[in-house]
Amino acid sequence: MKICIACGMPMKSLSDYAMEDEKKDYCRHCSRPDGTMQSYSEKLQSFVKLIIKTQGLDIQVATTSAKAMMMRLPAWEKFRETVDFGN
Ligand SMILES: [Zn+2]
Repeated sequence: MKICIACGMPMKSLSDYAMEDEKKDYCRHCSRPDGTMQSYSEKLQSFVKLIIKTQGLDIQVATTSAKAMMMRLPAWEKFRETVDFGN
């Protein structure tokens, strides 16, 4: 079983994979309609929206925790240096 490199979701069945392609390293939630993986900013926006919706945080706090969460995922390793915990 693989774990989505972009959001950390375990991909248990074929339908969890982008385009139902088990060779892909990311899930259907992290793919665009054409099957390519979403960009860092696209994924960040959707994480922020999700956090606001599920935890009721304001946008700044939600953005900080979304960035912290993404930092731990392999797809966004190269963005680590852009993470700013200051504000
Ligand atoms: Zn994913």
